[in-house]
Amino acid sequence: MPETPARAPRPRDAVLALPAYIAGRRAEHELTAALASNESHHAPLPAVLEVLAHSSAAVNRYPDTASTALRERLAELFGVTVEETVVGAGSTGVLQQIIASLCDPGDEVVFAWRSFEAYPILARLAGAVPVAVPLRADEAHDLEAMADAVTPRTRVVLLCTPNNPTGVPLAAAELDAFLTRVPSDVLVVIDEAYIEYSGAAAVDSVALFRRHPNICILRTFSKAYGLAGLRVGYAIAAPAVAEGLRRTGLPFAVSALAQRAALASLEPAAAGEMRSRVAEVVAERSRLTAALRAQGWVVPDSSANFVWLRMPDADREALVDLLAANHILVRGYPGDGVRISIADAAATDRVVAVLARVTPPAAAALPASVVFA
Ligand SMILES: *Cc1c(COP(=O)(O)O)cnc(C)c1O
Repeated sequence: MPETPARAPRPRDAVLALPAYIAGRRAEHELTAALASNESHHAPLPAVLEVLAHSSAAVNRYPDTASTALRERLAELFGVTVEETVVGAGSTGVLQQIIASLCDPGDEVVFAWRSFEAYPILARLAGAVPVAVPLRADEAHDLEAMADAVTPRTRVVLLCTPNNPTGVPLAAAELDAFLTRVPSDVLVVIDEAYIEYSGAAAVDSVALFRRHPNICILRTFSKAYGLAGLRVGYAIAAPAVAEGLRRTGLPFAVSALAQRAALASLEPAAAGEMRSRVAEVVAERSRLTAALRAQGWVVPDSSANFVWLRMPDADREALVDLLAANHILVRGYPGDGVRISIADAAATDRVVAVLARVTPPAAAALPASVVFA
């Protein structure tokens, strides 16, 4: 190893201060139930496998950097113009574009906490100030407190519905009231990564977008469509906002394979197959929720492909370890609790069998202070 000279390149302080994105643990054992990352446990859709088998010969060429065909299809599906669509490297990639295109250093990004852990990281990366508003005791967004947290420096509000990791969706009436309070020059991002699992609990974000052009709908092919490994997500936003997003995207960030796989996933037969897989997951979600409640656990109604158990840290560590010892990987959140992704019936049975051996902690209170750094 060469000696480090006194002066050497180093990341800027804002980067060194970023909290690390903690990915769910990956399965290393054939018996492992990988329930830590909210992925689809199904193999890719047949139409996607077909695309992957037949489209790899062109990878010596750059993809269409504008994702034109996919955007045209999305515009058709949503009844919006192509100019109102943006495709990026996962919805996390699109979110980075959102914050980069709207926030100057010192501008504020308001979001609920606990929520998707990429939010504070992406805000800080852009030099913006993350403003985390605690969830309510019922694990829902506190939209009144979030509206109160909006200042003249606020450029973006991130709403996650259903919320990762608590599974609780936004309520339509509360969202309406929130939108009338937020200034029209603040972008309200509705992150719907799990919308396909929400059924009737979902707000009609497309109708809201027509009434409130400061809304940006954010969706992904990573979860219900099962394309987490291909990196493709999208946004619907007003033309001027969408234009800014496209300008801040890395050129060629979405591969041609990802674009084709996403298009194939939207074909009626593939989308139908996706919906029947989602129905299976929703049935397992009901079964797991009911079984855990029967054991005495407090489980909020989830509209996503995971369930949430709030608990003190000592219980959380013990539970994550006990499940891991039984080859079940789940996601623990310091200060908050444990999130368990839903997979097949066998996975549900295994989780229920392990949790039956644990005394559920007394109903845990939300932490008094919000810690996300
Ligand atoms: C998983 C997830 C995403 C999507 O991530 P991709 O970058 O599209 O894979 C976005 N938002 C939330 C809240 C998520 O949980």
